[in-house]
Amino acid sequence: MKKIKIAIDGPAASGKSTTAKLIAQKLGYLYIDTGAMYRALTLAIINAKTDTANESEIKKLALSCKIELKQLKTELHTFLNDKDVSDAIRLPEINQTISQISAYPEIRKIMVEKQRELARDGGIVMDGRDIGTVVLPDAEVKIFMDAKLRKRAERRFHELQKKGVKSNLKEIEKEIENRDNIDSTRTASPLKPAEDSIIVDTSNLTIEEQTDACLKLINIYFEKV
Ligand code: C5P
Repeated sequence: MKKIKIAIDGPAASGKSTTAKLIAQKLGYLYIDTGAMYRALTLAIINAKTDTANESEIKKLALSCKIELKQLKTELHTFLNDKDVSDAIRLPEINQTISQISAYPEIRKIMVEKQRELARDGGIVMDGRDIGTVVLPDAEVKIFMDAKLRKRAERRFHELQKKGVKSNLKEIEKEIENRDNIDSTRTASPLKPAEDSIIVDTSNLTIEEQTDACLKLINIYFEKV
């Protein structure tokens, strides 16, 4: 069977990465979390104490740092200059800065190039904000996952609780809303559904249900070709 490209976009905590990972496992495809790439760069900027307003310094860093995604057992790990930073990139400090960094057009160009290279041979499920619109406009299946803000915040809150991280639902909701606002109003490849994407609202779906909904859309594609 032909190995296709599957693009999954959507706002923060809409269930993209959980579903993308499960779909990739099921199909034997590679899963690429583009958010993790922007997160690793943001961590590099924080570590280097680079001024977040200085786009040209950030560009230098983006060109010089080594960001890799590696599948280790069932989990996708993120490496920055050969160091596993999978946990560090999820810290609140990253969430507060990342949307400012990812709005820079020059930075996006560098990231998009890396992402296209990773997807070149197909057989991939890639999630992010601009995959269907900019990174892989030729993706055979494009899904835009959405969910009500409160639901998304509750999911993040429960995830953090499970990990034993103390958090506050209202604050999480505010942080997600703020990030979505910046991501969807930026000039360079804003968060929005591709015209040929299918919207899956996960507000009232379990992980299994939302994954099944996406797998059905993928099956429909294969039935048509
Ligand atoms: O997917 P995740 O929530 O980890 O993404 C973190 C941030 O990275 C987003 O809020 C957005 O600012 C940026 N991002 C992006 N384009 C992508 C993926 C992520 O701008 N393709």
